[in-house]
Amino acid sequence: MVLESFAPGGQAGSSSLIENFFGFPTGISGGELTNRAQLQAFRFGAKFSTPAQALSLAFGEGDHAAVLQIVGSTAKLRAKCVIIATGADYNRIDADGRERLEGRGVYYAATAAERQLCRSATVIVAGGGNSAGQAAMFLSEYAEKVLLMIRGADLSKSMSSYLSLRVEAKKNIEIICHTEIRKMTGEKHLETVELENIETHERRTVQTSAVFSMTGAKPRTDWLPPEIERDDKGFVKTGAAVADAPAWKSAKRPPGLLETSRPGIFAAGDVRSGSVKRCTAAVGEGGMAVEGVHQVLGTYA
Ligand SMILES: Cc1cc2nc3c(=O)[nH]c(=O)nc-3n(C[C@H](O)[C@H](O)[C@H](O)COP(=O)(O)OP(=O)(O)OC[C@H]3O[C@@H](n4cnc5c(N)ncnc54)[C@H](O)[C@@H]3O)c2cc1C
Repeated sequence: MVLESFAPGGQAGSSSLIENFFGFPTGISGGELTNRAQLQAFRFGAKFSTPAQALSLAFGEGDHAAVLQIVGSTAKLRAKCVIIATGADYNRIDADGRERLEGRGVYYAATAAERQLCRSATVIVAGGGNSAGQAAMFLSEYAEKVLLMIRGADLSKSMSSYLSLRVEAKKNIEIICHTEIRKMTGEKHLETVELENIETHERRTVQTSAVFSMTGAKPRTDWLPPEIERDDKGFVKTGAAVADAPAWKSAKRPPGLLETSRPGIFAAGDVRSGSVKRCTAAVGEGGMAVEGVHQVLGTYA
């Protein structure tokens, strides 16, 4: 049973073009990848419940490792195993005026719809990771100029080198280092953005109709009980990192690679501590977690 609180696809569903997914040499949009994946899952017998948000997780008796409470339902779901794959949420830019202008110039995805709004304009992409690099490349085909704003000194720390090379070579992308957005203004729509150099504290105002916030994400782990151990940023720990957890001390086997601090409960994808934060990695971890589930179910048989 797949519980999905919003719509299948998660973050990948909002990506305009995924170029590094295995088997798609010319790239694929997140929406199309999501549709194909869901059809494939249906074919293999997965049952989707959407929208259905897991509200809490408690631990069951006997061979039921978990009891899930679901939002909007009085029913509880008893499961022998659970794979936590609740991903992560976008970080918001901490700037005056941002909240009022969300959806009116402040965006968290760069799809064909947003790109239409950027024709011949100067736009800002905030962030130094792969999502920011892709958005900058994608928008640079329509926008007159893309300002790629990063807090660090260069792109090498957080962006794949194949992408950073392309971004750096693109004539209408300007990389602005050591910079944060302080203020966003506009009547009905974003008009200006105030930038601050965090080293010199120098400020400047840029006329722009769009800011794309690509500044990372927080794990969606609020619904989990404290027994599911997390790292200092809230990502779920697995494998060797939970070997000393109380539930594993009395167990007859060590935790599997993707098993959490509670036996039979797994974590995969962006929600997992140390995960790579890429589609291929999330899909691969999902497959590995399912294998772990089969092993656990085998022990119950
Ligand atoms: C704009 C953008 C572009 C990207 N481009 C690329 C790319 O080109 N290549 C690449 O490899 N990666 C890319 N990524 C990263 C990639 O999308 C993620 O690494 C991947 O989607 C992670 O998958 P996930 O299933 O772990 O989590 P998510 O995609 O975050 O999915 C988690 C799902 O769980 C649901 N959920 C959350 N909480 C609950 C709950 N309590 N109950 C039920 N459901 C819940 C959410 O609604 C969501 O659908 C991009 C990300 C973004 C945002």
